[in-house]
Amino acid sequence: MRVLLTGGAGYVGSHAAGMLHRTGHEIWVYDNLSEGHAAAVPQGRLIVGDLMDRAHLESVFREQRIEAVMHFAASCYVGVSVTDPASYYQNNIVGTLSLLDAMRAAEVGRIVFSSTCATYGVPDAVPITENEKQTPINPYGFTKLAIEHALADYSHAYGLGYAALRYFNASGASDENIRGEDHDPETHLIPLVLQVALGQRKDIKIFGDDYPTPDGTCIRDYIHVEDLASAHMAALEMLGAGTQWKLNLGTGSGASVKEVIDACRKVTGHPIPAAVVSRREGDPPELVADATLANETLGWQPKYDHIEPIVASAWRWHQDHPRGYDDRGAKG
Ligand code: UDP
Repeated sequence: MRVLLTGGAGYVGSHAAGMLHRTGHEIWVYDNLSEGHAAAVPQGRLIVGDLMDRAHLESVFREQRIEAVMHFAASCYVGVSVTDPASYYQNNIVGTLSLLDAMRAAEVGRIVFSSTCATYGVPDAVPITENEKQTPINPYGFTKLAIEHALADYSHAYGLGYAALRYFNASGASDENIRGEDHDPETHLIPLVLQVALGQRKDIKIFGDDYPTPDGTCIRDYIHVEDLASAHMAALEMLGAGTQWKLNLGTGSGASVKEVIDACRKVTGHPIPAAVVSRREGDPPELVADATLANETLGWQPKYDHIEPIVASAWRWHQDHPRGYDDRGAKG
């Protein structure tokens, strides 16, 4: 299929781009490189452009005869969304509306959208099903929820086929170790812990140990980035006109912050000093997916269902690329 991936130079988007490219889809990555890495994109498949440039998007759709879109491009730091909501509402909501208008104009009728468990806020029940109420507790979650609503309304009115994939905590690196996580600044737990093991950071700060969880630290469902990519590919291949899927993507089992740090100690052999500090604003105590619906709908099953192999995969990448993509040139 001829697929355009917005944000395909970013962490999850580049893994999906790599997988689609490998399996014979004709892909184009559309990315403004504000956060992404050109080196993460399969050779020769990058178009540098901005979501707000509707005319450019429309011409790419027509020239490349694009059949479907995977929409990863977004601002995605929960903390920054609290202090700078304007850029989140602008980039995420207004940017997506520009994309959807360009798709309508060029008659591209299918989209797989990166949504998030942050749309649930603090859930009433864990594991979280898709029927859980959606009451985000930060602007990032609100922007993603607003887009889910827009997709449903566009589908109803214009026949758009969509899959909103609500990911839990993306983690790990590509099986060939040519792509991985490289954010600047890095805010995510696993890469920060591994930076301690690499000697780049003195210790890891645990954001609160007084949560109502067995060891007092927050529990998250860490889902491997290649498993996210395979779910995107399955959704893409199965989407039809008017499809309206809202699916959780997680492993169904959670790991606490302390358990993640312990897994990193085991995998790296480094003592990894940790210090408890105060809670981070906007962190729900426990987010774990019930991914039954994704399994039933897509026939999808994560290959990685334990924290240790996920950490081992991330560790391979960080050892081999201690400065991220700055260490290596373009990839296949
Ligand atoms: N966390 C932490 N120390 C850090 C970074 C994160 O204790 O330096 C915690 C954070 O509070 C959350 C979990 O680790 O409970 C996962 O955070 P991350 O930022 O990786 O992902 P999020 O769940 O926010 O999407």
